[in-house]
Amino acid sequence: MFIELTDHLRCPAEHEESFLVLIPDTMRGRTVLQGSLGCPVCHRVFPIGDAVLAFGAAAPAPPRTDLPEAEALRAFLGIEGPGGFVALVGSVAERAAELGQLLPGVHCVAVNPPADVPPSASVSVVRSPRPPLKARSCRGVILGAPEALDPAWAEVVGSVLPGLRATGEGAPPERAGLELLASAGGWWVARAS
Ligand SMILES: [Zn+2]
Repeated sequence: MFIELTDHLRCPAEHEESFLVLIPDTMRGRTVLQGSLGCPVCHRVFPIGDAVLAFGAAAPAPPRTDLPEAEALRAFLGIEGPGGFVALVGSVAERAAELGQLLPGVHCVAVNPPADVPPSASVSVVRSPRPPLKARSCRGVILGAPEALDPAWAEVVGSVLPGLRATGEGAPPERAGLELLASAGGWWVARAS
C-alpha cells in the first residue's frame, strides 16, 4: 500500500469519516509491505500484509474477458497530467497497472480486484467489504461488477473530486451531485459536482 494513500482512506465501519493512524512495520520505498491502520473512532485495527490492506473479508472479483481497454477507461475519466489517485473497484481493477502506465504520476487503487492483481509501486490493493475511500479524495472512480450491482457500493462515486468523473457498468447510481454525461455499451460516465 502506497504510504500517501493513508490520508484518503476511511474506516469501512458505519460511522463518520475520520483520519486513520498508520503504523508501518516494513517499507519498500513508499510502499508499506507490513503494518496496520488503526481507526480512532471505533478502535478497529486493520492489517497490511504483503502490501495488501485488508479492511475485512471481501471475495476477489472474478476475472473477465469483456472489460474496456485501459485507454477507454482513461478516456471515460478524461484525466491528463500527473498526481492524485484513481480507484478501480471489482473485476475492472485488473486494468489498474495498464491504466497507471497511461497516467504517469497517478496512483491507482485496486479495490477488491481479481486474485491475480498484484500490488506495485503504482498500484495499491485494498480488500474491503464497503467503500474504503474518503469523500472527494480521488481524481476518478471506476465502479465495476460485482460491486457495481450492489447499491451499498454506489456511495464510492462520492469519492470523486468535484468537477471530475466517475464511470461504471450497469445502471448509473442515482444520487445528488452526480451528472450523467454518457451511457453506452453497458458503461456510464458521470461528473461529480
Ligand atoms: Zn472505525
